[in-house]
Amino acid sequence: MSTKKDYYEILGVDRDASQDEIKKAYRKMAMEYHPDRNKEDPEAERKFKEAAEAYDVLKDEEKRARYDRFGHSGLHSGGYQEPNFEDISFEDIFSRFGDIFGSEMFGGDVFGGGRQRSRKRRQAGQPGSDMKLRVKLSLEEIAEGTEKKLKVKKQTKCEECNGTGAESNSDFETCSTCNGMGEVRQVSRTMFGQFVNVQPCPECNGEGRIIRNKCNACNGQGRTKGEETVKVKVPAGVREGNYITLRGQGNAGLRGGEAGDLIVLIEEKEHKDFQRDGNDIYYDLVLSIPEAVLGSEKKVPTLDGKAKVKIDAGTQPGKLLRMKERGIQSLKSSRKGDQYVRINVYIPKDLSNEEKEKIKSLEEADHFDPENREQSKKGFFSKIKDVFVGE
Ligand SMILES: [Zn+2]
Ligand SMILES: [Zn+2]
Repeated sequence: MSTKKDYYEILGVDRDASQDEIKKAYRKMAMEYHPDRNKEDPEAERKFKEAAEAYDVLKDEEKRARYDRFGHSGLHSGGYQEPNFEDISFEDIFSRFGDIFGSEMFGGDVFGGGRQRSRKRRQAGQPGSDMKLRVKLSLEEIAEGTEKKLKVKKQTKCEECNGTGAESNSDFETCSTCNGMGEVRQVSRTMFGQFVNVQPCPECNGEGRIIRNKCNACNGQGRTKGEETVKVKVPAGVREGNYITLRGQGNAGLRGGEAGDLIVLIEEKEHKDFQRDGNDIYYDLVLSIPEAVLGSEKKVPTLDGKAKVKIDAGTQPGKLLRMKERGIQSLKSSRKGDQYVRINVYIPKDLSNEEKEKIKSLEEADHFDPENREQSKKGFFSKIKDVFVGE
């Protein structure tokens, strides 16, 4: 059983308080028990964290509804994790509720000084950079889709300090130069008026906190050079120039900052047998004169092993034989491309005398006179024929 205090009671609001009332109540408490005003007062620290936890739940309509129905126990079931702010650092509370601490607690109305523009919520550390990686795929891999394991040399989170960069969690202190805000403001007066220049705090590099004892393994960076194996699922039908973005798989951030992305660029290996046209592939099949004239059965490569195709007697060079759905699976639809077999006929040179005689004897033959061909001249070469494919 939970012995925790009621969240509404902690913030001193009614159970039907509006979000605005809850926010106001929390802001008031947060200021009253703020660590900067209550140095070394464990009771104030406890209350400050208690209020943060209550606010964290009540500001979220979904969590609040669960809490209303089931109490504290509703927050550690059904996929929820019970909030526990007892061991959380002040910095984490500040960054978590940036909307409250960002403009109101510091520098803003409360402690004097001009009101600032709303700032980007401060996050721990600094983000890692994106990385690009090329992956070369064969047509076979592209045709069906594939999963690749890529070895990536990159900055990885330091295991020793879990990415914080500090020896232990108590080794952080709020940066005194910027009071934890991560920014410093310089006011300059000119004849045109007063200008405020906001810059990242040089002392803490804009992080708002400083590490007293740096982690030895990473020298306070929170990340180290390493290598990781990254799995990337490549869908069927990709083409050269496509890319896949793997969120958070790039370089680890500095001191717990968000990791960058890994961008995987697709390259297509040239295939020894096929040319690609969209989702269709083309294969050049060269027949001998007797094969083209008399017909035959030929084995042709496909993206999935060899297949037999029947060559009709009288097959013309330039003819396209279509092997339906032997091409590449489309990236955008369930359609599959086709494989085309482009017929060519080999005309030999340097014949022996005997061979020349044989060919010559055909010169006058009726069926060898192109004027007598049956097919219409139009479309004579480009006709596409679907062929039955045997394995
Ligand atoms: Zn470390
Ligand atoms: Zn600072």
